[in-house]
Amino acid sequence: MSKFLELKREVFEANMELDTRKLVTYTFGNVSQIDRAAGVVAIKPSGVPYEALKVEDIVVVDLENNIVEGKLNPSSDTKTHTYLYRTWDNIGGVTHTHSTYATAWAQAQIDIPCLGTTQADYVYGAIPCAPVMSNERIQGDYEEETGAQIVELFQDRDPNESPMVIVAGHAPFTWGKDAAKSVYHAVLLEEIAKMAYLTKTLSPQIGDLKQELVDKHYLRKNGKNAYYGQK
Ligand SMILES: [Zn+2]
Repeated sequence: MSKFLELKREVFEANMELDTRKLVTYTFGNVSQIDRAAGVVAIKPSGVPYEALKVEDIVVVDLENNIVEGKLNPSSDTKTHTYLYRTWDNIGGVTHTHSTYATAWAQAQIDIPCLGTTQADYVYGAIPCAPVMSNERIQGDYEEETGAQIVELFQDRDPNESPMVIVAGHAPFTWGKDAAKSVYHAVLLEEIAKMAYLTKTLSPQIGDLKQELVDKHYLRKNGKNAYYGQK
């Protein structure tokens, strides 16, 4: 009997949700969740197709990437996930996909500008794009460096103000209070990226959404005086 069965089940379900929402092709994509009290992270195993994935396949690692439980190798992106958990103590889940529109912006190496309230409801401003990685970093500890690059983008910004990022030439990472919420943000990011692409196609010269609307939408949902939804 696994000590981490509930954690593994949540991570399994969040990974399957990525497949249900059509955000992954073959084995691209992975979701993890941390148990802060136990100091462990549960994550999808590497290279296992979604249709074959089972709860018991989910791998549990510690924050230094050592396997604590599981017979399979963890996702090759595990070090990026653990880097984010070690640095940001206010996140509980991380998702990585290569979803089409978000990845297109990453490949174009452009921040996703805030063009409308759909984005402003969840992100305060633009969704940042991490620069193309240097050769030194690529040849070093690549997945660890991917985490470091993401963190560098948020030096002056709370990661919850944009629970999503794109990495140039690669693809998006999203996070949230748990695995399910990080998947939710991955789904939102794909929709926002699609809308932004279509908007810029229709009107390449369109500017960013005016700050008053960004403030109104972001703060009514996320500010300390938030009033959106049910109490
Ligand atoms: Zn990737």
